[in-house]
Amino acid sequence: RAKHEGRGAIRLFTSAMDQQLRERRAVEHDLRFAVERGELHLDYQPQRHRDGHISGYEALVRWRHPVRGIVPPAEFIPVAERSGSIAQIDDWVLMEACRQAASWAEPLRVAVNVSAAQFRRDNLDVQVCKALRESGLPPSRLELEITEGVFIEDISRAKRAMQALKQLGISIALDDFGTGYSSLSYIEAFPLDRIKIDRSFVARLGQSERSLAIVRAVIGLAHGLGVPVLAEGIETDAQMSLLLQEGCDEMQGYLIGRPRSQTGLKKSKTLQLRAVS
Ligand code: C2E
Ligand code: MG
Ligand code: MG
Ligand code: MG
Repeated sequence: RAKHEGRGAIRLFTSAMDQQLRERRAVEHDLRFAVERGELHLDYQPQRHRDGHISGYEALVRWRHPVRGIVPPAEFIPVAERSGSIAQIDDWVLMEACRQAASWAEPLRVAVNVSAAQFRRDNLDVQVCKALRESGLPPSRLELEITEGVFIEDISRAKRAMQALKQLGISIALDDFGTGYSSLSYIEAFPLDRIKIDRSFVARLGQSERSLAIVRAVIGLAHGLGVPVLAEGIETDAQMSLLLQEGCDEMQGYLIGRPRSQTGLKKSKTLQLRAVS
């Protein structure tokens, strides 16, 4: 009987894998046309300085699929990375974020996520240059968020790419710090403008002494190198006050503001983000 059940389980497992594979193919196929069909849009989440002012917004891509509805980036970005449509998506996000930010009344920073694959592409600086030129956004207002994934392949290449980007006058943040292949040598060797503490550490703050120890160490380390720290995923007042107490420079999370469309932001008086035109 056990044997029988086992076989059943295997069959179920295989058909679940088949199903998953079919799903992924369908998503891959639809993704190829998502940009052309205008199915992507950006939401923006505020980043607040410890002194209380809004310092910038992170652009987060959303895909409104005609049948599936809103597909979160965690579901389609990895698929796009494997299937090669990531370059098209990242280029669109970069252009759109620069265009929209250039229309904001306040000259705030806009942070754009760049996937590791995109970062390794030779012409990222050319794309960034083009987006800045066409949108008229001053380079000082653009920040690219990269993850530790960019360091795993060719370090010297990553360094060249980063230097080329820095030459343009934009800034670079290290996203999700502490979750990837973190190495202290990277943050020493790379000209980072900001370190973002991953929200998994923030989530456990106040419950785990160990998370507090990590957060404290990251802030100390970053500050020792002269790099400001932004904590992401702040949901409670307790997390916020611990982070302020530890000297964290900037905060981002549902407590401060959820990601919203530019239109939604314009309507919200608290965020004071109006377009000039
Ligand atoms: P990320 O860059 O670390 O973005 C932060 C994610 O945390 C966002 O999820 C945001 O909605 C979510 N978040 C913010 N505050 C809170 C909070 O207080 N609590 C919780 N539980 N979550 C919070 P989202 O928008 O689903 O994005 C997920 C990831 O997808 C991003 O992580 C980023 O790695 C990737 N991504 C998003 N947009 C883009 C893009 O335009 N290009 C690329 N290449 N990747 C993107
Ligand atoms: Mg990010
Ligand atoms: Mg992050
Ligand atoms: Mg994250």
